[in-house]
Amino acid sequence: MGCSRESSPGPGGARRIDGKAIAEAIHAEVEAEARRLREAGAEPHLVAVQAGADAASVVYVEKQRERFSKLGIRYTHVHLGAAPSLEEVEARLDGLNGDPAVTGIMVMLPLPPGIPVHRIEEQIAPAKDVEGVSPANLGLLVHGRHFVGPCTALAAMKAIEATGVPLSGLSAVVIGRSGIVGKPVGLLLLQAHATVTTCHTRTRDLAAVARTADLLVAAAGKPGLVTRDMVKPGAIVIDVGIHKVEGRTVGDVDFEDVAPVAGWITPVPGGVGPITVAMLARNTVACAQRSRGA
Ligand code: NAD
Repeated sequence: MGCSRESSPGPGGARRIDGKAIAEAIHAEVEAEARRLREAGAEPHLVAVQAGADAASVVYVEKQRERFSKLGIRYTHVHLGAAPSLEEVEARLDGLNGDPAVTGIMVMLPLPPGIPVHRIEEQIAPAKDVEGVSPANLGLLVHGRHFVGPCTALAAMKAIEATGVPLSGLSAVVIGRSGIVGKPVGLLLLQAHATVTTCHTRTRDLAAVARTADLLVAAAGKPGLVTRDMVKPGAIVIDVGIHKVEGRTVGDVDFEDVAPVAGWITPVPGGVGPITVAMLARNTVACAQRSRGA
């Protein structure tokens, strides 16, 4: 599911991993599960908490509201104003943690200055942590016992699984070591028995390391970083990056350059991005199941 022979790179070019198709399949499962939970009296209810005046967050909230309404998941937006104090944000999170009618909580980023992200992530009850970012949930991920995980990392894994290539023993290189993408992707790949190398800004000769990869995950946040000379012919290339460059949405991979040599590739847009949104919905029903024991 979710892979098609891309026409533009021509014969021998990469198969395109269709993130939209993968996301649609996940949405169908989530919708069915949300219905089941509602019928069992355990309605999933996500609360998105916004602190600060970030315009992109407002757009993001509206898109999420629309998506969740289609999926039959209750969605509430709590806006704490342009400059709430840390105490105010923590008090509101405490209230949501203890509210039995709320099954999921997410905090929109960026937060205003003076509100440390890690402190807020620690404040969210692990059972309601739909973004899988609390220390307890990241700990479960280390143990391979997680029920949620960081949405983008889970999305990258779904894109990889869509290729149907067995991961056991594969050489995987992840470019990026952030707590929400690079590190969790590395852990998930290890659980799938890949041999994982994580690269970052201090890695020597990135191109040489990347060329060893049967599976290359680019999560560096640098537009066009991955070029053809860094890719082993036939490799799976997963592009997590999202950037606006001269009005175009592009990734960390130079798609036109890499697609002719890769075996599989995710486009940007239409690759990991839509699957990430679907994984948020999937995490939301997973939290509802957990907090309601359904
Ligand atoms: P980040 O800035 O927190 O981490 C980037 C990582 O890449 C760092 O560990 C850094 O060491 C490494 N890095 C940066 N430049 C490098 C270079 N030249 N060579 C080697 N390593 C390098 O970013 P993040 O939050 O992990 O996000 C990464 C990218 O994914 C961004 O483009 C972001 O927009 C995108 N993203 C996409 C989604 C999605 O839904 N698809 C979600 C979250 C983030």
